[in-house]
Amino acid sequence: MRAQRQWIDGRAVHAASGKVLTVEDPSTLAKIAQVPHSGRADVDAAVAAAARAFPAWSATTPGERSLALLRIADAVESKRRSFVRVESESAGKPVSAVGLEVDAFVDNLRYFAGAARNMEGKAVAEYLPGRTSMIRRDPVGVVASIAPWNYPLLMAGWKIGPALATGNTVVLKPSARTPLTALMVGAIAQEFLPAGVLNVITGPGDDVGAYLARHPGVAMVSVTGDTATGKKIAAAGADTVKRLHLELGGKAPVLVFDDADVELAAATLRAASFWNAGQDCTAACRVIAGPKVYERLVAELAAQVKTIKVGPTADKATEMGPLISASQRARVAGFVDRAAKRAEVVVGGAAMRARGHYYKPTVIAGPAQGSEIVQDEVFGPVVTVQRAKSDEQVLEWANDCRFGLASSVWTRDIARALKVSRALQFGTVWVNDHFTLASEMPHGGYKQSGYGKDQSMYALEDYTVAKHVMLRSE
Ligand code: NAD
Repeated sequence: MRAQRQWIDGRAVHAASGKVLTVEDPSTLAKIAQVPHSGRADVDAAVAAAARAFPAWSATTPGERSLALLRIADAVESKRRSFVRVESESAGKPVSAVGLEVDAFVDNLRYFAGAARNMEGKAVAEYLPGRTSMIRRDPVGVVASIAPWNYPLLMAGWKIGPALATGNTVVLKPSARTPLTALMVGAIAQEFLPAGVLNVITGPGDDVGAYLARHPGVAMVSVTGDTATGKKIAAAGADTVKRLHLELGGKAPVLVFDDADVELAAATLRAASFWNAGQDCTAACRVIAGPKVYERLVAELAAQVKTIKVGPTADKATEMGPLISASQRARVAGFVDRAAKRAEVVVGGAAMRARGHYYKPTVIAGPAQGSEIVQDEVFGPVVTVQRAKSDEQVLEWANDCRFGLASSVWTRDIARALKVSRALQFGTVWVNDHFTLASEMPHGGYKQSGYGKDQSMYALEDYTVAKHVMLRSE
């Protein structure tokens, strides 16, 4: 097993301490790589390199930055097969599924390459006599980008695309469990970016991430991760008043009204709830059904879930792989075991006998609204279905949650769809669909799912500061 290196100031380097971390395949438990276990010296070096690179990079034209992003996207696309293999092995994703994530990374970078050339300030005008005002959108500075393990490559792309497109320099820290594809992007990026513009360092969150997040040289922290992590990062950044971009947990409600197409809903949930073994912040995990469709929906969903092919990630027929780690599987099992005391486990409900961290796709019917399985993020292949008494209760239960990332509404009544979409406190509302994303459209939350938008022109705004320049014009 070869020890990989990280990217600081355009060079591939080991951790200053020489320490390493081992990366494991969650499907086979094979040890597949070693990466640097960074410490404070590595973070200091990466932040200093990003700070040195900032003046020149922020002065490049949007066209130059756009071209660099396009070249990185092309190079990743040309290595699609390697990215698929490495992401599949290190994140426990079926090879049949992970290609779409590589494609989405490429599409996202290309979107930001185009969008970079379309950023606008406000039109120049005289708001006071003899004074001309203009609005610039300028980069923030050094951005610390901290990414999770559930979509290692895609989340790295969501972060570096808008940050680099707008002229910031970046220190990217992927999850210690899944750092390999971010390091591959780092290697590619060095060919097309000046030294220090994109640094990629690896190490655990509670020391390396925490030190990076409070580093005085960092102007903005962008994190995708658990809500508890977001709170710690917000507290750590308070001292130096850092700008924050927080994409945190989710608990997506699926509102199935009595006039819904139940077959379509169940067939959609088969993928939307169990993609990536349910380890998805927008996973359709909290179904709330009207009284007339509840029984049929539980039966249809159970039938769908029984057909999901769980197996080795390298097998092309596999649809669902393992969970990321033994601890994540134990956490999921704990939620299900406690829920089973008061609700019915209709399908699944147990770990699988396999070498990796496998857990059966699970449907739980009838949990109480206040129960932890309904209120907390399980982050595994587990869906609950609740029976509401009325349309009003469907909506009330959906919003009765501390998260607010994504939701879906299932109805044939357009007026109801519009009314409910407006009332839902979630950053995305799908109507008769769930899970589909487009690079042009914003992704981000309400409440404890965080603030700031990924994807779309809104992300470009988040990675810039609106600056007012006023000129004496008479
Ligand atoms: P996590 O919070 O454990 O880790 C996320 C990243 O933060 C990792 O790189 C980790 O090393 C780092 N980190 C951990 N503690 C830190 C600290 N104190 N200071 C600085 N950095 C720290 O999350 P995870 O388990 O990797 O990912 C799963 C979570 O991510 C889920 O809660 C999920 O909902 C969320 N998520 C959200 C979105 C979204 O768009 N809102 C997308 C994907 C995942």
